[in-house]
Amino acid sequence: MQPTRHIVIVGGGLVGAVVALALQQRGFRISLVDRARPTPGPQGLGIDIRNVALSHGSRQLIESVVDWPGQAGVFKAMHVWEQWGVNSLHFAARDLNLESLGWISEVAPLLTALWQKIDATPDIETVFGEIGSVQHGVDSVSLGLAQRSIEADLLIASDGARSGVRNLLQVPTQTWPTGQVALTTVVATEQSHQDTAWQRFLLDGPLAFLPSKHKHQCSVVWSQSEQSLQANLAASDAEFCQRISQALEYRLGAVTEVATRQSFPLQQQLAQTAQPRPRVLLIGDALRVVHPLAGLGVNLGFEDARAVLAAVDAMAGQLDPAGFAKFARQRLLKSQLMLRLLSGLQVLYGQPDPLTSWVRNIGVGRVNKMGWLKRQLMLEALGGRELLKESATAADGNLSDAEGRLI
Ligand SMILES: Cc1cc2nc3c(=O)[nH]c(=O)nc-3n(C[C@H](O)[C@H](O)[C@H](O)COP(=O)(O)OP(=O)(O)OC[C@H]3O[C@@H](n4cnc5c(N)ncnc54)[C@H](O)[C@@H]3O)c2cc1C
Repeated sequence: MQPTRHIVIVGGGLVGAVVALALQQRGFRISLVDRARPTPGPQGLGIDIRNVALSHGSRQLIESVVDWPGQAGVFKAMHVWEQWGVNSLHFAARDLNLESLGWISEVAPLLTALWQKIDATPDIETVFGEIGSVQHGVDSVSLGLAQRSIEADLLIASDGARSGVRNLLQVPTQTWPTGQVALTTVVATEQSHQDTAWQRFLLDGPLAFLPSKHKHQCSVVWSQSEQSLQANLAASDAEFCQRISQALEYRLGAVTEVATRQSFPLQQQLAQTAQPRPRVLLIGDALRVVHPLAGLGVNLGFEDARAVLAAVDAMAGQLDPAGFAKFARQRLLKSQLMLRLLSGLQVLYGQPDPLTSWVRNIGVGRVNKMGWLKRQLMLEALGGRELLKESATAADGNLSDAEGRLI
């Protein structure tokens, strides 16, 4: 009988926690290392300030390890327009014969559910502490912490944008400043959000209102210049409500309440490789960090996780470093593509000159009328054709109709 293979995962954020549970389900022994157990972040208007948009693909992966969190809000449509434009883009789930385009989930309850499951799983050992070294051998990898070291067949680094593993291994990592910072908060609105994600591209940066499960409440991600941020943080609640209502052109009426305002620096970043050593993989924000304008960050991390699982499944339980080469190539390519796309969008929408604005508007107007192209864009954002087929089947059992409308 073969010995149980051992995987050490550094970083128990959303991506690391999910991959730990999914790999344990496949019969591996897991050590999950983090600095500390996750603690809930600040709340506002009764919900977590930190929210993420989750695709169908991400939901499917999460549901393979824990129950779907009851507090997630659904979004059935997405409406995108710009400060200087007359045209807008409208994506609707019904165009794909689906119930929803995705979900907006509070981060804290999801992380809590994942960690409760981890704590209740005997084959997952949790280790808390700061990592100090990564030693690489031919048949194993060793992670050094202050009090002990852990030897394993594979090390997966899901330790976020400032990955300690990536730094210890001195993996070259390129960063691209965005010139923007993100202001995040939760707001109450006069009118219902209509289960729609609203995004307006302002010259200063995109403003997104993401629908929560309460019809008059949205989480906000407002990317903007440092100068605007300072003004928006200094404003009283009443002033801020007025500013943000105007910035969204009162699409949801007036913003009537606002929670604590938080800010995050925004930069895009990419490690040179997803497999810096034969037995070390980088996933999630440890591999790449993208601008939040498309709500893709954690979804790309879950895609990395699915690619690791696919590689492991294809090796039938063996952890041969060569078996991860395809994973590493694919995830690097996808990351490069997404980074370019998001940088391009940021530059395109930051151009104030009338000619660019005119060209942009024509483009947006055309895309909005091209059902086929819109469906392809939605497909990509939802997490892929295969997953969509499954969702369509689950939604109404009418797979052929859904497929027929896709192509
Ligand atoms: C303003 C904003 C809005 C966003 N909105 C969205 C959205 O709508 N949709 C979306 O998909 N994404 C969004 N994102 C991105 C998303 O939050 C990240 O992509 C995601 O949280 C990354 O998950 P992760 O598990 O890879 O890393 P993290 O969540 O950063 O987790 C890393 C874990 O590693 C641990 N760790 C770090 N260093 C060490 C170390 N040296 N030793 C041990 N442990 C360590 C940390 O404690 C943490 O638990 C947004 C980001 C921002 C900034």
